[in-house]
Amino acid sequence: MLNCIRSLFRINNNKSKNESAKGDLLKMKNIVLFGPPGAGKGTQADVLKEKYQLVHISTGDVFRYNIKNETELGKLAKSYMDKGHLVPDEVTINMLNAEVDKNPKANGFIFDGFPRTAAQAEALANLMVEKNSQINAMVALEVDDEVLVTRLLERGKSSGRPDDANEEVIRERIAEYYRKTDILKDYYQAENKYFGVDGVGSIEDITDRLSTVIDKL
Ligand code: AMP
Repeated sequence: MLNCIRSLFRINNNKSKNESAKGDLLKMKNIVLFGPPGAGKGTQADVLKEKYQLVHISTGDVFRYNIKNETELGKLAKSYMDKGHLVPDEVTINMLNAEVDKNPKANGFIFDGFPRTAAQAEALANLMVEKNSQINAMVALEVDDEVLVTRLLERGKSSGRPDDANEEVIRERIAEYYRKTDILKDYYQAENKYFGVDGVGSIEDITDRLSTVIDKL
């Protein structure tokens, strides 16, 4: 399975790899913005992308765009998202790959909601190698589970997201995070790239905490 994903990457990335100048890519700043559902990743990514002139890729947003436009990818993703489950790795990785390739001139990326599994983290590392670049840091927003549930139910009143409107689905998304995603802290910690930040407070205060980490990269 992983080999299959890797070979898909190679096929998709040959073009941008050949077109890219080595030196430019090494200057990229690539950040994984991490945390459970409702931690505030999207809100902070919106601020940070402007502040650091980075391209923001939210896999959740790309899936929702596809659902809205009733694409095949959208139909497939919806069947998982409605239950609070993760979309299969191969589908998600290929989609992320295509999004990165749409931005060959980026100064760097904020990855929001990706990676969410060990296979995705490995695929992202390989993708960065193919781009002659790297992930500089995983910056994680730390928020207690019950605060997450309250926040997501509140967001569900206006977000229009079916997965925010139902407490059972919210709890399943958090459970899925602990089953498959939380382990990625260890993955990045092993490379000294994990930075946890308190995700409770005003938007500005949390941006300041994240910026303290990002400014040092
Ligand atoms: P989010 O907007 O990040 O909360 O994601 C909403 C939903 O999209 C998740 O509950 C998953 O069903 C799906 N999703 C988003 N990103 C990923 C990913 N990296 N891997 C698998 N599923 C994802």
